[in-house]
Amino acid sequence: MTIGPDYLSHPEWGFNTRQIHAGYSGDPATGAQTPPLYVTNSFHFPSAQSAADRFALKELGPIYSRLGNPTSEFLENRLANLEGGVGALLTSSGQGAITLALLTLARQGSNIVASNSIYGGTYNLLAHTLPRYGVETRFVTPGDYDSWQENTDENTVAYFGEVVPNPRGDILDIERIAQTAHENGIPLVVDSTVATPYLCRPIAWGADIVVHSATKYLGGHGSALAGVIVDAGNFDYAADGARARFPGFNTPDPSYHGLVYARDLGVGCPLGANLAFILKARVEGQRDLGFAVSPFTVFTLGLGVDTLSLRIERHVENARAVAEHLAGLRGKGQITEVRYSSLPDSPYRELAEKYLPRGAGAVLNFDLAGGYPAGRAFVDALELHSHVANIGDVRSLAIHPASTTHSQLSVEELAAQGIGAGTVRLSVGIEDSADIIADIDRALAAVAADATASA
Ligand SMILES: *Cc1c(COP(=O)(O)O)cnc(C)c1O
Repeated sequence: MTIGPDYLSHPEWGFNTRQIHAGYSGDPATGAQTPPLYVTNSFHFPSAQSAADRFALKELGPIYSRLGNPTSEFLENRLANLEGGVGALLTSSGQGAITLALLTLARQGSNIVASNSIYGGTYNLLAHTLPRYGVETRFVTPGDYDSWQENTDENTVAYFGEVVPNPRGDILDIERIAQTAHENGIPLVVDSTVATPYLCRPIAWGADIVVHSATKYLGGHGSALAGVIVDAGNFDYAADGARARFPGFNTPDPSYHGLVYARDLGVGCPLGANLAFILKARVEGQRDLGFAVSPFTVFTLGLGVDTLSLRIERHVENARAVAEHLAGLRGKGQITEVRYSSLPDSPYRELAEKYLPRGAGAVLNFDLAGGYPAGRAFVDALELHSHVANIGDVRSLAIHPASTTHSQLSVEELAAQGIGAGTVRLSVGIEDSADIIADIDRALAAVAADATASA
């Protein structure tokens, strides 16, 4: 269980130190230097009393790995620490994390106000799947600040957005949207996958719940599929403005001995932190919905987190170099637009500097004048870049969304998402930037030759 003194251990330590030390100081059983892999689905109870107490949440020991596993526990503590939260829950995927976070807040008849600048999988969840279970989403353009308030009513249970949305790059104004959310007694949930806690800590700006696809930069090596939910522990579900919205937090849970999450685990509870949300997500959500992650996956993820800041520094340095190179080619015939929020002429530059002073991540997009055939020719001509539907790998990746990830969308829907027929998405890796740029230039030359040949 992710409760304990470790979640805020050594707040005075810097990020580089905490990413390799927080949440783990040697295995209590063996003293193992690296966090051991506990490949077990269940745990011996020391006595009948202890077993009963664990089931009643009076004693916080391990029961069964769907609810918690020591391999996960250390990494949950570490990620909570890096984000500045009070607790975390690892899940089997980023989609699992988002689904579990939102279903912990919602019930039939609830609605969510969400940015329309979000990952395609999350869009499908919000626009198509959750409505079948009576949870509706009202989509807003994130920079249209009044629309968040206008779409809010007494059944709104969450505001949702992505810190660095892909592909539009329209950075979420976390502080401003959190303020509107809190004025209404609503928590702000943000997906910080592209930002990572090294570049932005949304909790410091008012976000209440942070989710990640750990598949991407947290793992970082294109191997593990996982997600994580981090709870800031700041939102009071029993406060005057919130109480009526969240009956699930304020009435006894018949599936948990009449536990009242906000009262028994929330502000002022004996646990010493407001853990109402993250424990509800675990003991009810994870127990019943079962988005549990394998310890093997968590082990590889942990190795990735050890080097997060080092990798992200190189990712960002390379992304800047690539973005500047592409921006230099803009308007000279082949490239019509480059979207990277840290570029000096980006409309989101100011927000990027405020929330991500070290750089707006390493995912960027550009548009080829040659449209659909040019986009396909470009990815076919790449050698160093992997042509995959992923981001956040140490290797440089590329994809042509119009023919792949977004091929179901109409031209109008594509335009609304900021994707043109000739848009190419790059996830810039940590290789030598000269090699990445040379590969891009070679592919651009191949596109030009292709166009000349077919003209
Ligand atoms: C990939 C991704 C997800 C989904 O995560 P999975 O681990 O693939 O389930 C959610 N949000 C963002 C921003 C992503 O990039």
